[in-house]
Formats: sequence, structure tokens, C-alpha cells
Amino acid sequence: MVMSRQGLGFRATLGLALVTGAVIAMSAAIVAQNAAPKKKVLIVWGGWDGHQPKQTVDIFAPWLAARGFDVEIANTLDVYLDADKMKSLSLIVQAFTMGQITGAQEKGLLDAVRGGVGLAGWHGGLSDAFRSNTEYEFMVGGSWAAHPGGITDYEVNIARRDDPITKGLATFRMHSEQYYMLVDPSVEVLATTTFSGQFVPAIKGVVMPVAWKKVYGKGRVFHSTLGHVAADFDVPEAREIMKRGMLWAARVPGSGDDPVPGNPYLR
Ligand SMILES: [Zn+2]
Repeated sequence: MVMSRQGLGFRATLGLALVTGAVIAMSAAIVAQNAAPKKKVLIVWGGWDGHQPKQTVDIFAPWLAARGFDVEIANTLDVYLDADKMKSLSLIVQAFTMGQITGAQEKGLLDAVRGGVGLAGWHGGLSDAFRSNTEYEFMVGGSWAAHPGGITDYEVNIARRDDPITKGLATFRMHSEQYYMLVDPSVEVLATTTFSGQFVPAIKGVVMPVAWKKVYGKGRVFHSTLGHVAADFDVPEAREIMKRGMLWAARVPGSGDDPVPGNPYLR
């Protein structure tokens, strides 16, 4: 009996020691996590005011902060000139339609993304910016061409139901501009829209990418063509795709992998 008790006591002590060890290890992990620098996101807005760049940024900036990002908001492209700052980022969100970018500003942006910083943006703020800058367009993976009919009703269809960015989402409707894009075939398309031909018969039946992901150098690039005005993000799916795309571009664990190899346009 005595031996047995001692045995139990030993096992209990050993068990406690193991548990204590596990708790210490967990605490160390939590401390390490807390001590790790926050992921930094730089949000740059400006350009054509009709796209409500400030209002759209105000939808996502507080959410990114709530997700644990250190958020900086700039209203000038000169922020791209600060190489040390650019290198320190996990994500750049740009909402800057049309406009001009200087060679030095563009180099700052391209170098950061090539070096591994993520880039994400919606609508013209990313894919209708700096129209004469070809290398910028290579990075984004597409460029706006037209929105036949102006504000119209259309469907968005999920092309990749297995991707974390679009997983669980079903077909949804938009009342907004339906972007007709010139798209780099190397992008991985996550959602599409089909043109009815009502306004331009020549494009009837064209299936056009709405959201895609790609890599540029070491950086992840995510784009959604939804978001003409802030109210477009009242559509839950439009808002959700953008949020998940930003997390993916910032390499937040669990947000998805790099684009799947096997794209026939990538050899
Ligand atoms: Zn627009």
C-alpha cells in the first residue's frame, strides 16, 4: 500500500511537473508572440476623388488595426521614397486612381514588393493607377479598360471555392461598375463576372476576372475590381473578399498559400 501510494505520488508529481513545463512553454510562446513586432501596413490614398479613396480606406484601416496590424495612412506617393520604411512593411494597400507616379516613387513601390512586401487594392485605386507605367501594370496583373453601361447590375461568380480568400462564398450581385479588364494571364483568378453584351454587343459572354492573386518577385499581390465607391463594400461578399485578400498578401498564417503552380501561362 505504502509503495503504491508513493508510486501514485511520484506519478502525480511527475504529471504536475509535465503540466507545469507545458504551461511555462506556452507562456514563453505567448510572450514571444507578444514581443514579436506587429505586422506593419501602409495605406496610401489619393488620386481621382470620384472613387472616394478616403472613405474606402476608412472601412478597412480600423479593421486592419483590430486584426493587430500597425497601420500607417499616407496621402502622398512620396511615402514610397522611404526605402527603410518600405522594407519594414508586411503590406501596402493602395487606393490611388489615375494620377502620376514619379520614377523614384514607382521604384520605391516596385522594389518593396519585389523584396517580399505584399500589395493589395480594389478597383481603380490599384488597377487604374499610373496608366503609362508598364512595370507597375506587370506587378498588379491587370489594367482597367472600360465599364460598359456605367452603374449597372451584375453577378459575381466564385471561380475558386477551395481558396481561403473565396471559400464559403456563393454567387452574389453588385449594383456598380462592372470592370472590363486587360488581364495578365499569369494571375490566379478567384472570382469572375460575365458580360451580358447589353451595352457592348462585342463582349457578350466574356468571362472577366474580378478578383485575383499573383506574385511579383517575392511579394504577394491581391486585387479585386469591386469597390467603385465606399457603399459597394456594404455588399458583405465584396468586403470579405477584400479583407481576406489583404491578409493573404500580408502573409498572415492561415490566409492561404502562394498561387497554385500549374497555371498554363506560367512556364
Ligand atoms: Zn469606378
